[in-house]
Amino acid sequence: MSFEIAVLKGDGIGPEVTDQSLKVLLNVASKYGISFDFTDGLIGGFAYDKTGTPLPQETIDLCKKSDAVLLGAVGGPKWDKAPNDKRPEMGLLSIRKMLGLYANIRPAILIPALKTECPLKDEIINNGINITVVRELTGGIYFGEKGREIGANGIEAYDINKYNEMEIRRIANVAFALASKRNKKIVSIDKANVLESSKLWRSVVEEVSKSFSDVKLCHMYVDNAAMQLVKNPAQFDIILTDNMFGDILSDEAAQITGSIGILPSASLGDGTLGLYEPIHGSAPDIAGKNVANPIASILSAAMMVRISLGLEEVAKSIENAVNITLEQGYRTQDLDNENYISCSKMGDIISQNIV
Ligand code: NAD
Repeated sequence: MSFEIAVLKGDGIGPEVTDQSLKVLLNVASKYGISFDFTDGLIGGFAYDKTGTPLPQETIDLCKKSDAVLLGAVGGPKWDKAPNDKRPEMGLLSIRKMLGLYANIRPAILIPALKTECPLKDEIINNGINITVVRELTGGIYFGEKGREIGANGIEAYDINKYNEMEIRRIANVAFALASKRNKKIVSIDKANVLESSKLWRSVVEEVSKSFSDVKLCHMYVDNAAMQLVKNPAQFDIILTDNMFGDILSDEAAQITGSIGILPSASLGDGTLGLYEPIHGSAPDIAGKNVANPIASILSAAMMVRISLGLEEVAKSIENAVNITLEQGYRTQDLDNENYISCSKMGDIISQNIV
């Protein structure tokens, strides 16, 4: 079995962490008798510097003909002054939109070996944390009309948060389908006490829930959800939410499970093609120092082999290798500031722990 993988390493720590995933994937490939054909594509600031655009057409073509896409991260202060449509982040937003990847699945699981890294008290995390955030990815405020104009009190700026029924219905269907295979519980998070887009969100989610009578749905306002995540994270199983709320809440969920450096994600659409990336950004503050945590990228690679390539056993072997490595006490700097190993060493050890 051979699989074509588009590899978009991007900026900052993107290349460092993605290289560790490739190392692990090559090792599982030789153990399981499969082969991966990795092809690099340009994205983000690096692509802008080389080609004048953060998402060259060749990258789009490469992704479309691949079985899956593995991405690092994009962005950095070097491109802060780039024109809006040329910013590295536009490359990422555009590739998600162009590939129709509207469903972002972000599991936030407290790995037992990392219990001591969780900033919450023992009595709060005794029941564990196992949340999957289902975030709408190609609509809402990040894609709405934006602009500036001169008003009576100086410059005014606006970003429109617009959702239509189809966009809400399809992401809700993904969340309900997932919930019916798990604990049959969904919390849909919005701001329906204030926002019109959230009122529509709530009513469409209610409508979708009628087709999933075995799944218990409740609604929560986003400000309360931010509080409940640290007060009682065990109450959540599937969180369904929009683009911006999902972006923010999943960073919070990352921190309560140990570090933003360990959480993976999958971006999916209606076909089998998926894009897999850590939830973190390009971390310019630590880029090039070989201290980043590669686990989020490696677990994204595990999601890739499970979801897009259908290799459950291979996915489990990667996840087991991560767990074993953490149980052996290996930590990167984000998890232990005094006693830590490098990014590449973490990749080596996880790779060696594949059985
Ligand atoms: P960030 O996630 O890059 O970093 C936040 C903090 O977490 C930093 O202190 C960083 O050092 C730390 N961190 C992140 N990943 C880590 C890892 N693997 N190991 C150890 N520590 C890690 O977020 P930011 O600082 O808000 O953004 C930096 C740049 O990344 C910006 O240009 C932003 O637009 C971009 N960004 C990109 C993505 C993406 O590519 N998907 C996501 C978020 C932010």
